[in-house]
Amino acid sequence: MSEAIIEIQGLRKSFGSHTALDGLDLRVPAGSVFGFLGRNGAGKTTTIKHLLGLIKADSGSAHVFGQPVDDRGAAVGIRRRIGFVTEEKDLYPYMTVDGMIRFTRPFFHGWRHDLEQRYLDLFALPRDKLIPRLSKGMRSKLMILLAISHGAELLILDEPMEGLDPTVVEQLLRELVAITAERGTTIFFSSHQLPDVEQIADHVAIIDGGKTLLSGALDDLKARYQRLSVVCSAEPPSDVGRLDGVESVRRSGRMLSVLVSRNADAVAAQLRQLPGALVECFPVTLKEVFLEHVGNNKCSG
Ligand code: ATP
Repeated sequence: MSEAIIEIQGLRKSFGSHTALDGLDLRVPAGSVFGFLGRNGAGKTTTIKHLLGLIKADSGSAHVFGQPVDDRGAAVGIRRRIGFVTEEKDLYPYMTVDGMIRFTRPFFHGWRHDLEQRYLDLFALPRDKLIPRLSKGMRSKLMILLAISHGAELLILDEPMEGLDPTVVEQLLRELVAITAERGTTIFFSSHQLPDVEQIADHVAIIDGGKTLLSGALDDLKARYQRLSVVCSAEPPSDVGRLDGVESVRRSGRMLSVLVSRNADAVAAQLRQLPGALVECFPVTLKEVFLEHVGNNKCSG
């Protein structure tokens, strides 16, 4: 198993009587592009803020690069090795794009002037524009430029695609994959755009109610799940959902759509015993796996 860049165990955090993190566990392997998924309020930003030392959890542990994030001594060193984009896009409002870049550069010895120029061109960022006059998408682009240019070993991106138009999202996705491939940078990003996540992530975690529901390599998850489409010559029985490995069953007259998480071959063989049954097997999308775990009507993408 490859080294973990982020390792979280049993993390808990409450705001007053509201529990935001309820024993969250997470392991992000080195060099992975890791999609951190969950519906609104699941606890993604709270987790990210804890990793960045912006808030303190009540209990549990979180290590980045093998060091505890709540250790004051280690925190500064950790932050220098991370490039991050947060929801707040905390940029100084009295600065221009150029001023913000010049202000940030000296904090990082490994600043990459080549990447700075590449992203200024790619994102068509106007150097002399004041930050409050930038659009939301432009502010996101500037945050991404700053995060990438400082030569970080780990990028933590909280909804980086939010507010960007589809052409820029496409470019950004390609760039993120290139950064990992060329430099071995680990990318940990939250997003609601499941097709985008599916396009670039090699690992995902789905969280809900501050707990991890599912985590692992995307290929393994997708290989585990299959959808079986069944057409019968008569009304199918009502107990298909009880077969071992069946997660859910949707029915429409003589048709069934069955989601299985294991034993797909055995389940298909049993379904073929139904009167006049035709059974077909389909791969599932990340969105289907997500909806299966956190329920319908709860995500976009
Ligand atoms: P979204 O996808 O909508 O950004 P999220 O998964 O990032 O959601 P969090 O922002 O981590 O979710 O919030 C988790 C829960 O904690 C939510 O119910 C939220 O209302 C609550 N919460 C977060 N920060 C605070 C705070 N400072 N004070 C009170 N409650 C908070």
